[in-house]
Amino acid sequence: MIPAAKPVIGDEEVDAAVRVLRGGLVVQGPEVAAFEEEFGALVEGRTCVAVNSGTSALHLALLALGIGPGDEVIVPSFSFAASANAVRLVGAEPVFAEIDPDTFCLDPDAAAEAVGPRTAALMPVHLYGHPAPMGRLTQLAQRHGLALVEDACQAHSAALHGRPVGAFGDAACFSFYPTKNMHALEGGMVVVPDAAQARTLRLLRNQGMEQRYEHEIVGANMRMTDVAAAIGRVQLERLAGWTQQRRANAKVLDAGITGLVVPPVADGARHVYHQYTVRVPGGAAVRDAVQRELEANGVGCAVYYPTPIHRLKPYAHAGACLPLTEQASAEVLSLPVHPSLTSSDLDLIVAAVNSAALSAGVGR
Ligand SMILES: *Cc1c(COP(=O)(O)O)cnc(C)c1O
Repeated sequence: MIPAAKPVIGDEEVDAAVRVLRGGLVVQGPEVAAFEEEFGALVEGRTCVAVNSGTSALHLALLALGIGPGDEVIVPSFSFAASANAVRLVGAEPVFAEIDPDTFCLDPDAAAEAVGPRTAALMPVHLYGHPAPMGRLTQLAQRHGLALVEDACQAHSAALHGRPVGAFGDAACFSFYPTKNMHALEGGMVVVPDAAQARTLRLLRNQGMEQRYEHEIVGANMRMTDVAAAIGRVQLERLAGWTQQRRANAKVLDAGITGLVVPPVADGARHVYHQYTVRVPGGAAVRDAVQRELEANGVGCAVYYPTPIHRLKPYAHAGACLPLTEQASAEVLSLPVHPSLTSSDLDLIVAAVNSAALSAGVGR
């Protein structure tokens, strides 16, 4: 079976973890500081604050920007629930806006229509590793005085017109969950443009204190361990090579797949293919049939996300109507694109996809 994702935990990761465990400084020590410093190279040298997950990163970014009860944050419904959960966790309300059906990212026109008197922030998601249209979203945020928070949890080293994701917003958040393009077992990073904001984030992640027992504000415990940071540093060194491999794998899939809609890339976008997501025209039943046949033929694949956030129990009461998002949920299928694939794996995937599309009546 070719797995849909394959997190790397190799000898270097194990050695790094053991080195930290034997060293004795295990929480938010020198490895975390070094990881923060080194991650800055991905985001034009912005300040990085490491935390224990991508969800924590989003949560703290919103808190640090002062977003809370009475505020609304515009988010795409076509994302992982964490994007909206972070908004709720600070007591604000997510307002769901439509996506661009090609890139699956927040549509700036739809976001503009969703702006109201309570809107405090925009939270675009660089979904699947494709950058959201940050130029137009930045203009929209500036026009209405809104904060701009990038959910870059799936998009390490993606870029738009040469500028990396994470370098656009008032804050940007990355995840280091095992299946992401790089991992730290669990972990997250908040990236911000200014030092005062970084200090607030450091307080928030550590019970509101910089000096021991001098609690300046109310904070949580969202610290990263040094074991996680040491693994993250090993992975960060390999990210460029892995990304190149993901992009090369995507090229092979683009060229070989017929009948299904391969993922379009917007002008000027550098897609890092956290997921390689095709559309199966015809709806969920046809898509599910293609998925079953692929799995029967040894090709792991997955649906991200089968239920849009606005249809999930905590959010359904608002009754949002988002037909493009619902259509995407019914049609998307993510194929293996991870850097461990061999060229014969890729050939097998292409052949299996084209044959499954034909038997589902959508291929050619
Ligand atoms: C993974 C992910 C998150 C949350 O990251 P965790 O590290 O799992 O908490 C948030 N948003 C998106 C889009 C993600 O893919």
